[in-house]
Amino acid sequence: MSGDGGQRIYIFDTTLRDGEQSPGVNLNMEEKLAIAQQLARLGVDVIEAGFPISSEGDFKAVQRIAREVKGPVIAGLARTSEKDIRAVYEAVKEAERPRIHTFIATSEIHMRHKLQKTREEVKQMAVAGVKLAKSLVDDVEFSAEDAFRSEIPFLCEVFTQVIEAGATVINIPDTVGYATPWEFGEFIKAIREGVPNISQAVVSVHCHNDLGMAVANSLVAVLNGARQLEVAVNGIGERAGNASLEELVMAFYTRRNYLGYETGINTQEIYRTSRMVSTYTGMTIQPNKAIVGKNAFAHEAGIHQDGVLKERSTYEIMNPEMVGIGSNKLVMGKHSGRHAFKVQLEELGYSLEGEALDKAFTEFKLLTDRKKEILDEDLIMLLDSHVLGSGEEVYLLENLQLTSGTNISSMATISIKINGEEVKEAACADGPVEATYKAIEKVVNLPVKLESYSISAVTGGTDAQGEVVVRVFWGEHLFVGRGLSVDIMEASARAYLNALNKIVRAFPNLLQ
Ligand SMILES: [Zn+2]
Repeated sequence: MSGDGGQRIYIFDTTLRDGEQSPGVNLNMEEKLAIAQQLARLGVDVIEAGFPISSEGDFKAVQRIAREVKGPVIAGLARTSEKDIRAVYEAVKEAERPRIHTFIATSEIHMRHKLQKTREEVKQMAVAGVKLAKSLVDDVEFSAEDAFRSEIPFLCEVFTQVIEAGATVINIPDTVGYATPWEFGEFIKAIREGVPNISQAVVSVHCHNDLGMAVANSLVAVLNGARQLEVAVNGIGERAGNASLEELVMAFYTRRNYLGYETGINTQEIYRTSRMVSTYTGMTIQPNKAIVGKNAFAHEAGIHQDGVLKERSTYEIMNPEMVGIGSNKLVMGKHSGRHAFKVQLEELGYSLEGEALDKAFTEFKLLTDRKKEILDEDLIMLLDSHVLGSGEEVYLLENLQLTSGTNISSMATISIKINGEEVKEAACADGPVEATYKAIEKVVNLPVKLESYSISAVTGGTDAQGEVVVRVFWGEHLFVGRGLSVDIMEASARAYLNALNKIVRAFPNLLQ
């Protein structure tokens, strides 16, 4: 974002930690890495990559992001215990700029019921955790969990001591999304006044959206001295989610003359980031969602349309192009060569080499056989669906044949390669999707439960690619599968197989 000298606000993105904790979200390593790379392109200041002690998978994902993603600070979350903090250190130590983020709850209700610790014990644990973290890295963030429901004098004591112990950022979460803007502003102000060494640390807030006020609370915190905002793409996160990255960033940008702050975000990457997070998490965006919803820039009323055609600013405070919507241009076709393809990918921010480039180019050529004009959006979706975020496939779609019509039941015949061996099955049902899925189930033979199915068009036009997203339960584990094709039935089959491939990759002994 081009600055006009406003004060800088730091964007701390927790899509991969708090966002990944959203009910029903389960990202694999490749998906996390691809999102982190995109967050770096978007220009966030800090990526909270995960909670390393929580699982082996989380540890490895944080470690890989720390190794490979350049630009932002890479942070990992830890409770104040030694083993949590050492796990974060091991995971982030190879980052250009590593940060350890440690937290403990400070509200009476959490200390008494959850931690069963006294105030004195909690304070000692906070200080000990920060000291240990500081002995390992320079950049240490301390969060007082449930800060907004904590007593201000106690909170001030804790913050004063952790800053003394070396904390560089103190974070004030409204963990349960209980605050209203004016009282949250007063709260931040009271803490800044009650902590004598506050100028030695950056003040951060982490607002949840249970009452729909996370963005407003974050804004008012900035007016009262906060300089780091913890946010998530599309506002995802625990329960009702976190403050939305795109809404805050565009508020600072659109109202810069009034507010006088700036972020380091490249706003033109917003829409693409939003799409990627939505696709990978399987969390669809409501059409009326600010900034990134399908209707955010659509004008329906005749009077509005007329106004916008005459002069956009009559009804638009932002242009869709600013967030990267509608920059869709005709990029390539059947005769585009490998070099032109590579250059175009680089322009879109993907640098692929070797095998990954070969795979992408093959997929691209297959697509040009079926779709005449390949747009930026098609390329992005093709990469996101077929190349990035996909690992070795156990089940590979070979062929799908369907008969269906208005007065007959549907029949699907499918052949799938399982580790190279072709298996064929057929099934009937009322509709073609159901018939296809029944045939797949006969081949794969895993007791899974399809929770949801959704389809959308990637671009306009009747030859647009259809994107299908399915959510599938294996026992209590949820997996998101997606498939892309100009043929929506093929996209449906691919999406289901994608979810099944993820299940057998996560539980390899299912195949024995
Ligand atoms: Zn949170």
